[in-house]
Amino acid sequence: METKILSCSRGSLELAKKYIEEGEVVAFHTETVYGLGANAFSDDAVLKIFELKGRPSDNPLIVHVHQGYDISPLIDREPSYAAALRKAFLPGPLTMVYPSTGKVSKYVSCGLDTLAIRVPSSPTAQVFLREADLPIAAPSANLSKHVSPVTARHVYDDFNGKIPLILDGGACSGGIESTVLDCTEELPLILREGLVTREMIASVVGDCGVYHAQKGEQPKSPGMAYKHYSPRCKTAYYLAEDLPKAIHGYEKARSEGEDPCFLCESEVCRKLNGYHTLDLGGTDEEMARRLYDLLRKGEKSATLLIGIEPKKKDGVMAGVLNRMRRAFGVEHGTEES
Ligand code: AMP
Ligand code: MG
Repeated sequence: METKILSCSRGSLELAKKYIEEGEVVAFHTETVYGLGANAFSDDAVLKIFELKGRPSDNPLIVHVHQGYDISPLIDREPSYAAALRKAFLPGPLTMVYPSTGKVSKYVSCGLDTLAIRVPSSPTAQVFLREADLPIAAPSANLSKHVSPVTARHVYDDFNGKIPLILDGGACSGGIESTVLDCTEELPLILREGLVTREMIASVVGDCGVYHAQKGEQPKSPGMAYKHYSPRCKTAYYLAEDLPKAIHGYEKARSEGEDPCFLCESEVCRKLNGYHTLDLGGTDEEMARRLYDLLRKGEKSATLLIGIEPKKKDGVMAGVLNRMRRAFGVEHGTEES
């Protein structure tokens, strides 16, 4: 199968709609990462996503709809704060998990009685979803466990010959996956941190928790149990205060014939003059936007990628650090897959 990379035009949108109606899988730009989308009402189309990605069958998918799409047939009930959150943050990088009516394919939620719904703000995603006018189940458009894609080229690298079309909207401005928020209880609970932060949600609702699965417990967001976002090279990871140890590790690796590279924030990069470095940037938003691109660059240009954890831990950095730690294998939930 030829994989076409097309920007949005009348022709490419009609083609995308045709593929979706035929039960095919189409990759599309969003403001977070690229998605791998299929008709959420079709069992076969949804199963094709799992098959293409090699995704574990208990890791549920997020359904994407255009702004203005009536989600009421899909959700059973909603808490009083849900409307205020939608008004404040949608369209945008916030996924809301509701009690499901079970109208979409049962494979979307992998047997859970909830449904995760997102309204992306990317103009490419909006026109694609409007054209399809269906709920589109879409995980990130990467092979399972590999680094999430933030350019059409990244999607192509993982799925060339396997999917008919990538709707190219350029590089993703957000860079990490959406915040996943459980909206089934009295108070909202963050299941996966992202660009819409706990502080932002609390400013609308009054309060918001962050869920951390206890060891041995089945996590509320099954995807968080899996090793994820991994570059295909050796990795090592250090806290910023352990920079001397990290430099020692770099030099030892070089003496053993490795080709090491640091991945760190700008401030630390400046101290590493003369070493091979990839610069994550100076602001939270920059680090979110660059992380996955640099992990993919790192796996191509080095045999050992040495991550140095950025110093700031709150706000958007909570989401960035969650992805970074899991990419470097220092935090990956309760089990590996
Ligand atoms: P991905 O599409 O690869 O960004 O992963 C989707 C994330 O959303 C995973 O971490 C899932 O566990 C989570 N998710 C999807 N649907 C649900 C749901 N119904 N309840 C809880 N988490 C969900
Ligand atoms: Mg993913």
